[in-house]
Parts: sequence; structure tokens; C-alpha cells
Amino acid sequence: MARTNTRRMHALRDEFFLEGQTQSRSTDPTIRALSHCWRCRQPIDYNVAPHSTDDSHNLGHYKNVDDFPELQEDRDNFRHEHRLCNLHAGKRMHSLGLGDAVADWW
Ligand SMILES: [Zn+2]
Repeated sequence: MARTNTRRMHALRDEFFLEGQTQSRSTDPTIRALSHCWRCRQPIDYNVAPHSTDDSHNLGHYKNVDDFPELQEDRDNFRHEHRLCNLHAGKRMHSLGLGDAVADWW
């Protein structure tokens, strides 16, 4: 497991959450849609702290960190997602042994 929890990654997570929060409050629906979960496309609850509830924000990786550790801190690889969607995706990948995350897996 190449997953690390560096201070830099903490800063990136905070920044990315705030970016999503700002987008979610936009009056422009196109911008608001950018703040939604990339897996289920539903709005994320930006009023609560990241990782505090099922609907709260999680920093997702488009290309998963196990297979692409070099992209862990790559902004272009970040996606907004629900904590719950992340948990489901992780479980599925482990149980099926799949190498990559699939957006529309159900
Ligand atoms: Zn979701």
C-alpha cells in the first residue's frame, strides 16, 4: 500500500473540499454540478466536515492510488465523491480484485 498521509496531502484535501464547497454554492448549475459526486452524480453535503457522515465529502481518485501511486497528489486525478460511495467502491474493488475504479458500477 503506497497510500501516505503527508502534510501536503492534508493541505490538498482541505483545498479541494473548499473548492467543491464554493462550487456547490454557485448560482450557475453547470458550476454547481462540478461539486457533485463523480460516482453517483448526486450533491454532496458540504455543510458538514469531510468524512463525518455518509453524504459528506471525500477526496476521490479517478485512477486509484493502489495502481497509480504517483497520481495520489495530482490535482487532475482528484474527484469529489461521497464518503459512502468511496466505501462501496473500495469494498467492491477488494472483493472482485479489480484494478480500477468504475464510475457507473451499479
Ligand atoms: Zn455519491
